[in-house]
Amino acid sequence: MLSFKLIYSDDYLLPIGAHVFPAEKYRRVHDCLIATHVAEASDFVTPQPASDQDILLVHKPDYVHKLKTGTLSAREEMEMEIPYSPELVHAFWLAAGGSILAAQHALKDQVAFNIGGGFHHAFPDHGEGFCMIHDVAVAIRRLQRDEKIRTAMTVDCDVHHGNGTAAIFSGLRTPRQPLPSTSATTVGAAGGSARGGKMRHAHDGDVFTISLHQHNNYPVWKPHSSIDVDLPDGMGDDDYLAWLDNALSSGLRQFEPDLICYIAGADPYREDQLGGLALTLEGLKRRDELVFRVAKARNIPVMVTYAGGYARQVEDTVTIHCNTVSAAREVFAS
Ligand SMILES: [Zn+2]
Repeated sequence: MLSFKLIYSDDYLLPIGAHVFPAEKYRRVHDCLIATHVAEASDFVTPQPASDQDILLVHKPDYVHKLKTGTLSAREEMEMEIPYSPELVHAFWLAAGGSILAAQHALKDQVAFNIGGGFHHAFPDHGEGFCMIHDVAVAIRRLQRDEKIRTAMTVDCDVHHGNGTAAIFSGLRTPRQPLPSTSATTVGAAGGSARGGKMRHAHDGDVFTISLHQHNNYPVWKPHSSIDVDLPDGMGDDDYLAWLDNALSSGLRQFEPDLICYIAGADPYREDQLGGLALTLEGLKRRDELVFRVAKARNIPVMVTYAGGYARQVEDTVTIHCNTVSAAREVFAS
C-alpha cells in the first residue's frame, strides 16, 4: 500500500473519439499501476465533480454558462480543439474535483496524485489546446478559499507553455491575505548552467508559476509566468534537468509556497508527436524524482496532475505517467 493517495475515476475518460489526445490513458495508467504492483485498489480514491461555485473561483460566469448550456460559438469550440458535449463538460468538472481532492490529500500525506487533470491551457473565459477547465487553478483557489493554504507554486513540466496558468495567476492577489513570503516584485534575469535555454523572471502574486517548455511550440503567445524557461528544440535529459534544478532553486529562493502543484506532462519525451524535446523515459523519471526530492527536503506538500502526452506508442505515455507514481513512492518511502 502506498503512503499517499491516487485520485481516479473511470469517468475521467474524455469523450472525444479518435483524437491525438489518448483519452483512454487514465484508465490504462490505473490498470498499469495495479498490474505492476506499484499500487493496489485501496490506494485509489474516487472524486466527485467540482461544484459550479468551485469552477467560478477561476472561470468567468459567461464562459461557465456557455459550457453548461452548450452555447459556445463555433470559433470557441474550434479553439478548444476537442468536440463539445455535455459529457465532456462533466469529465472536466470531475477532473477539477479530482484535483481539489488531490490537493487536500497532499496536505495530509505530503504528496497526492490526480490520475488526470493538468489542463493548463484553459483560461478564465475560454478553453484552448484540449483544455476546457483549469483544474489546477480551481484546486488552488478552492484551498485558498477554505484557508487550507495561502500560497502555491505551479511547476509545469509539460512540453507546452502553461499559458492558462500564467494568465490566471499573473499579478493576481488575494486581497484579504498578507504576503510576507513574497517580495513585491522580483524582476531580473538569471543564466542557467545548461546550454541553450533562457530563463525569464517576473512575479507578483500569491501563486508563483514556473513553466519549463519548448520555446518553438504551441502556444505562440506565451503570457509571462513567474519563471519561464524557454528550451530549444531537441534538448536532452542532462540539460533539461539542470534547467529544472535551476528554476526550482530560483523559485524557492523567491517564494515560500504552502503547496506545490506539479504538472507532470509526459510530452517532453523524445518520441512525442506534439513535442520537440528529447528526454528519455529514464530522464523523465529523474525529472519527477528531482521535483519530489526538492519538495520533500523543504517539507512542501505536492499535488501531481498529468497534463499532456502524445507518444507514438501510447504505452510509452502510460509508462511515463506510471513512473511518476513510482518516483513518488521511492522518494516519499522514508
Ligand atoms: Zn503538452
